Amino acid sequence: MAEKVSILIKNGLVVTMDNKRRVFEEGYVVIDEDRIVEVGKGDPGSKYVAEEVIDAEHGVVMPGFLCAHTHFYGALLRASPWFAKIHPPTDFMQNLQRIWWALDVLLTYEDAYAAALIGSIDFARTGTTMFFDNISSPNAIEGVLDHMEKAVNEVGIRGILSFEATQRRSLEEGIRGVRENERFIKKNNSDPSKLVKGAIYLHASFTVSDDLFIMAKDIAKKYNALLSIHAEEGLVDVFHNIERYGVRPIERMEKIGFLGPDVILVHVVQATDDELEIIKRTGAHVAHNAMSNMLNAVGVPKVPKMMKMGINVGIGNDGYIFDVFENMRTTYLIHKVWNLDPRILTPLEVVEMATVNVAKMFHVDNILGSLEPGKKADVIIIKPELPPTPVNAETVYGHIVNTFNGRDVDTVIVNGRIIMKDKKILTLDVEKAKEYVHKVVEKLWDRLISKGEYQLDVLELVRPKWIYEMKPSRK
Ligand SMILES: [Zn+2]
Repeated sequence: MAEKVSILIKNGLVVTMDNKRRVFEEGYVVIDEDRIVEVGKGDPGSKYVAEEVIDAEHGVVMPGFLCAHTHFYGALLRASPWFAKIHPPTDFMQNLQRIWWALDVLLTYEDAYAAALIGSIDFARTGTTMFFDNISSPNAIEGVLDHMEKAVNEVGIRGILSFEATQRRSLEEGIRGVRENERFIKKNNSDPSKLVKGAIYLHASFTVSDDLFIMAKDIAKKYNALLSIHAEEGLVDVFHNIERYGVRPIERMEKIGFLGPDVILVHVVQATDDELEIIKRTGAHVAHNAMSNMLNAVGVPKVPKMMKMGINVGIGNDGYIFDVFENMRTTYLIHKVWNLDPRILTPLEVVEMATVNVAKMFHVDNILGSLEPGKKADVIIIKPELPPTPVNAETVYGHIVNTFNGRDVDTVIVNGRIIMKDKKILTLDVEKAKEYVHKVVEKLWDRLISKGEYQLDVLELVRPKWIYEMKPSRK
């Protein structure tokens, strides 16, 4: 007798990303409820009766992508007139002082909701089905993650939400940030019906004292939650730690017992080889954000070296470009030119960095990241419009990295639920959502232009004179 199932995807080039990295030409995927039942080659024939049969039309069927690091609110500043009103930042620290910290103090609960809505739509339509976001909104802390969760649920993707705890003004504010994370973790992490979970986020080691580090680590341990932090994105992080603690940021984090397999270090641009050894030894992971590193002109991390050493590296977008294909392509290219070595990363390695590696760093590799029986049904179908060469088992990774883009994603399934089909999001009215978000952004930009100020007073811990700029706030 035929087994009743929810969804049968057939006629696909199935890229499993399983341990053997098997690819099935003319393959199929069987889904029942929220789980994958079978993945195979050919036609399952009369073995299953599916409520919904999806013809992949020889498109690529693969696991949904996972984004190792993002900030939804980053999308709210895209092409903003604010950039023309300020002295152009000349380095990473000024980027924070003049752009991101000028913005984040003005963020409201509505901004957080709108950002999560447009960001989740952008992720869904381009094939990313899980992400790790953190928000900095110092004047909208308590409860902000609930507003964002509502938006993510309206779109229907999976994710991790966190508040970026920082001590740049006071320890008290840092503690409130960590507590918001704890509240959200308690509410969501042990509830299996929740697609959105919590984690602990700390801004960076130059805005966090040992006390806050230890408090964050203790809470994460208590709830078995992930920890993440921006690490050595800019030189200010390195200088501050050496000046105040006599060690570099990653050395300091190891010394206070912060690092471990539960920690995701974001960027790691400035790390020494000794610090890479520490990352390897402690089992911490690295989230690599190539396009953001280029935008902010902070440098290029030693990603190929990390991977050779056995450090787990995944691709994030840092709130910049949400299309994973653009991020994969940039990752593929930047290390070649930086190392003057065209062999340095393969297309398969880059696809791993946006699927299985991120699943591993999120500690969900038992249920996500690949198409295998028993795993959660987060599946996408890509139908590329005009590939210049045949797409088959031999060429598919090369096409994913060199040819496809987010607009080629046709179907998106999350937890067994079809949230996009024929390139149309089914869960909400995208046009209406866009109009709403644009209205919210206009209000935010008005506030930024009328009230926005550089945030110079940034380090509660030490206030080194060299960090201040005694300049007026505006042009
Ligand atoms: Zn970031």
